[in-house]
Amino acid sequence: MAEHLRVAIIGAGFGGLGAAIRLKRDGVTDVAVLERADDLGGTWRDNSYPGCACDVPSHLYSYSFALNPNWSRSYSPQAEIWAYLRRVAEAEGVADRIRYGVDVTAAAWNESTRRWDIATSTGPLHADVLVSATGPLCEPAIPKLPGLESFAGTAFHSARWRHDHDLTGRRVAVIGTGASAAQFVPEIVKRVESLDLYQRTPPWILPRGDRALGERARRLYGSVPGLQRAARTGIYAMREAFFYNFRAAKRGRLAEKVALRFLRSQVRDPELRAKLTPDYAVGCKRIIVSDDYLRSLTNPAVSVVTQGIQEIRPDSVVAADGTVRAVDTIILGTGFRVTDMPIAEKLVGRDGRSLAEVWQGSPQAHLGTTVSGFPNLFLILGPNTGLGHNSVVIMIEAQLGYLSRALAHMRRTGASAIEPLPSAQRAWLDEVDRKMAGSVWTAGGCQSWYLDPTGRNSTLWPGTTLAFRRRLSRFRPSEYEALI
Ligand code: NAP
Repeated sequence: MAEHLRVAIIGAGFGGLGAAIRLKRDGVTDVAVLERADDLGGTWRDNSYPGCACDVPSHLYSYSFALNPNWSRSYSPQAEIWAYLRRVAEAEGVADRIRYGVDVTAAAWNESTRRWDIATSTGPLHADVLVSATGPLCEPAIPKLPGLESFAGTAFHSARWRHDHDLTGRRVAVIGTGASAAQFVPEIVKRVESLDLYQRTPPWILPRGDRALGERARRLYGSVPGLQRAARTGIYAMREAFFYNFRAAKRGRLAEKVALRFLRSQVRDPELRAKLTPDYAVGCKRIIVSDDYLRSLTNPAVSVVTQGIQEIRPDSVVAADGTVRAVDTIILGTGFRVTDMPIAEKLVGRDGRSLAEVWQGSPQAHLGTTVSGFPNLFLILGPNTGLGHNSVVIMIEAQLGYLSRALAHMRRTGASAIEPLPSAQRAWLDEVDRKMAGSVWTAGGCQSWYLDPTGRNSTLWPGTTLAFRRRLSRFRPSEYEALI
């Protein structure tokens, strides 16, 4: 007989580990984290490209209940964040709840047994409650470029870095100029023969101000945890204040001035500078913070190509103006499948339709967390929970608190299933859309991965994190249908 769990969690990244920890602290035993890879860490395991680091300050990009006094830099490198997650999982006693190599291939709500029937690569399972914590930055987006599959050299995505492929002396094409490319380009440019950077849209770039955190500061944070908490609170408050730059599309003037001054200081060549100057409002796409990206593009080995890509041939990339550039390596810095995440095809609700079928390309959830028609399902970092101004760990923790309160409510009332009322979900989405209207994310004059194919911004939360936390700080039974 298939195993039965109280809670099954999909994914052992920041969200899934956080859920396991929260449930353990609540005394919910009978929990398993299903992880398809052979290690934990999620996006911080998968993204190991050179230069990979967090673009949110370290003190804030960590769980509030597990501050780390030992970050080596103000913006921690990937390896440290990954190691941090491993340490926290051990220290909190949830490491042994993770089942590695278990790929969830489908999960369907069974209305008669009132539980989730979960099919995995290692066999079936049942769970009363399903927490999907696969993360929005999980599945690499591979662009449909004519001829890409015919390329005879080495091609890979930045989230699947080929460490076995030495880039020394290579002729490399990099496609994409988002947050990932901005981190790995300055690292690889030092060793390649040539680097053709295919830029579709120039990003806004602000200096990061990354610095080493000295031994003394680390010792002090270690011995006086209140100090680190104060530093975290200070960074948090500054980030929250930054939100008001985005509220209206025209508010980011100061940030634009800083970014343009930074660009002038980094790039002397007016022709290159013109290519790198955005023509949309700052914040419309995710702002990139980097101290070395712009300067790295002035390296004579780099050509910034803005004509677009016509096709890929076995040994070259052909730009839209017909220029053929010979390369032996292509690196796709083309981002992730955020609004069409594959997990949505696998989760099937009460009426037999998958999340993807219900969403029709435009993800929607009540409070970004629960979905009408999908009882006992909780999405961590679900629709409209992304941020352009602060740490998503804050959003994750707000959702974990909500999950905890929802399960406590079920225990108290004896409910076997809860799902949000369509009217409550609609009211929430209306509130999100109202807040979003006129913001830089919808009216900033750019195309971004925040927008879904219907043109709706179903990725970001258009408010402060304080407002989101406040809204999720109570589980309101009136917003739910409960089955006893
Ligand atoms: P991204 O921000 O989605 O950037 C993808 C890039 O690829 C964009 O420049 C995009 O151009 C380009 N692109 C996509 N399809 C293309 C095509 N068919 N032809 C040409 N260009 C194409 O992806 P990312 O850089 O991997 O970053 C994703 C997200 O990960 C970030 O926004 C951030 O949230 C997160 N991230 C975070 C950190 C961190 O430090 N915390 C670091 C790295 C990444 P357009 O702009 O024209 O669409």
